[in-house]
Amino acid sequence: MIYHQLALNVPLDTLFTYAHPHRLPEGTRVAVPFRGKTVAALVWAADVAAEIDSAKIRPIAQVFDHEPPLDADWRALLQFAARYYHYPLGQAVFAALPQGLREARPVAPPPVAQSFVLSATGLTQAAPKAHHRKQLALWQALQQGALSLPAAKAIHTQAPSLLKQWQQQGWLDAIASPAHGAMPPSPHVLNEEQQAASQAVQAACGGFAPFLLHGITGSGKTEVYFDIMAKVLAAGRQVLFLLPEINLTPQLLARVQQRFPHTRTAVLHSQAAAGARTQDYLRAQSGQAALVVGTRLAVFTPLRQLGLVVVDEEHDSSFKQDSDLRYQARDLAVWRAQQAACPIVLGSATPSLESWHKARHGDYRLLSLGRRAHHAAALPQIVLADVRRQKLDNGFSAQALALLQQNHAQGGMSMVYLNRRGFAPALFCGDCGHTFGCPHCSAKMVLHQQARQLRCHHCDFRQPIPRICPDCGNQDLTAVGHGTQRVEETLRQALPGAAVVRVDRDSTARKQDWAQLYERIDAGAVDVLVGTQMLAKGHDFARLNLVLVLNADGSLYSADFRAPERLFAELMQVAGRAGRADAPGRVLVQTQLPDHAVFQALKAQDYPRFADAELAARQSLGLPPFAFVAAIRADAPSMSEAVAFLRLIIDEQANGFRLPETISQFGPVPMLMARLAGRERAQVFLEGTQRRDLHHSIGLWRQLLRHFETTHRAIRWSIDVDPTDI
Ligand code: ADP
Ligand code: ZN
Repeated sequence: MIYHQLALNVPLDTLFTYAHPHRLPEGTRVAVPFRGKTVAALVWAADVAAEIDSAKIRPIAQVFDHEPPLDADWRALLQFAARYYHYPLGQAVFAALPQGLREARPVAPPPVAQSFVLSATGLTQAAPKAHHRKQLALWQALQQGALSLPAAKAIHTQAPSLLKQWQQQGWLDAIASPAHGAMPPSPHVLNEEQQAASQAVQAACGGFAPFLLHGITGSGKTEVYFDIMAKVLAAGRQVLFLLPEINLTPQLLARVQQRFPHTRTAVLHSQAAAGARTQDYLRAQSGQAALVVGTRLAVFTPLRQLGLVVVDEEHDSSFKQDSDLRYQARDLAVWRAQQAACPIVLGSATPSLESWHKARHGDYRLLSLGRRAHHAAALPQIVLADVRRQKLDNGFSAQALALLQQNHAQGGMSMVYLNRRGFAPALFCGDCGHTFGCPHCSAKMVLHQQARQLRCHHCDFRQPIPRICPDCGNQDLTAVGHGTQRVEETLRQALPGAAVVRVDRDSTARKQDWAQLYERIDAGAVDVLVGTQMLAKGHDFARLNLVLVLNADGSLYSADFRAPERLFAELMQVAGRAGRADAPGRVLVQTQLPDHAVFQALKAQDYPRFADAELAARQSLGLPPFAFVAAIRADAPSMSEAVAFLRLIIDEQANGFRLPETISQFGPVPMLMARLAGRERAQVFLEGTQRRDLHHSIGLWRQLLRHFETTHRAIRWSIDVDPTDI
């Protein structure tokens, strides 16, 4: 018997030893008996020495040997992720596999995908008459090479019936889809900046090279990715193209299909049907699919011919997973590119400060696109409306209402944008702009109205609510963080006859709601859209030419130090929504702090100015990316239980579990969103400038968490390395 160490989908750090008569290749999927059930497992190491009594080692029940094993690079990636995020290897492995491969059943190889090619007779046929423009385009695409059905549909919606017809006439043959095919020429001639960016990346092919592509919305980043992708695909390598959840729309997929009609594409995201996802995963693994387009989970796709990674909108928060294996797909993507020795392009109009910092330090190469690519599309104009000492009508200034009325009268479409994500109630001085920081650490204080206190959610320092501003003596301090309910009502009154539509999580819970809304908007049936960050990204609305931002200031008082960064990114994105067609858009931002660096940079639409100022502030406060952070979280039916559990571990540290001196420990404190799904959540922060010491400390914490979890059954705990949620 040969012993094998297997990864199982259980919350334990160990691998499990099982026996099999032959040595199995590492990465093979198998089924084994475990706790009275048959479960799936992955061979991690073969031919190992028995660590337990060999009589107790059970045989592997079934070997799925017709499936290709997960390759060494994939296993190294998972090994790294499990170690870096301090998560059990077996659970990490199974989190990275699609549903079909998590089960103790063999999976059928994906059916051979079909494409159509011109037959011998077809090749001698004349093209369809030129007045059928799309029909002609379809025919021309077939002349270039094999076309899959989705690619054909992207060219012409009537493709299914046309292809059938042509096939019946004997002009087409059905064949197995090839991974690679001809690249049609780009629809655009790249401008100089685009050309330079594309060339720089192409010149770096063949080795690891990380690039940050900074370009304002509409500057043609996507065309740059496509240009590089075309070259890499033509060289027979695979491309991994990661997008935020919300950007993976049918429109974008159609754009990819149109651009790469003869390239087999796998689409991997959490909304895809489980069966289809498993098949696309297997196609990518086997090399049948050359291009993988997907959301964060696609970073775990096994790709043996990886030649390029693209992460679009790299700053987007959806690349961070906040449950189970808490990974940052952007960071893992960089790791993968390094492992595969290929370039990676991180693109954004407003890069994450982490990436910008790396670009500033030369760790990433910065590529910039400074102009809108489409000459007709002018930049929107951003205006700051100073609303200090103004009487507001349910949040609206007189200037804002007048603009909305005027725009409606002229037939324009407006958007009222409410920023209220992720900032806790705070106190500030409306006269001088003073905010209340914790005297003991770099966090801002959170307002607890009922307890009449300001509290630090970082170190738990508390103080009574101050009556006067310590800076200017103003006695009228303002609370922010609430009050956006009556916006819609106010609009209906101010704009009688206008179609006002509110978009929030409740009104657009389902996908078809979005589709319906887009249809109404495209049909011109919406005059004013009211909504939150859900509106910032994704779809373009041609008629939208005025955006009003109502309550942006809250972010600047937020206890979440990333709030200004998110605000800036969101407002730039919102601004990019305005006037993408021929008429330039206008953006009006109401603020009490018009001189604040964030708003000044926003007005100038100057991301580098914002990022450099914000990084300087982060540096002086010792915040990421100048420090490394991990959050240890516990949740329980009550806050006191969660806090007591974490405190117990801190007390235990005196007994030989001392943290390294470079590490500071804060808490336990409640999370900003303390209550979730009937449980209350507390956390401890570990912070330091040395990654190695941080990981060592997390390891110590983990031992103690493991030890005490057995006596505290009501507690659930987790570790979040590089958390973005506070
Ligand atoms: P981004 O991804 O930076 O937002 P896109 O690549 O989507 O920008 O380009 C914005 C618009 O400009 C698209 O309609 C695109 O087709 C067009 N475009 C991009 N590059 C060029 C170019 N070189 N010449 C003409 N139009 C271009
Ligand atoms: Zn504090």
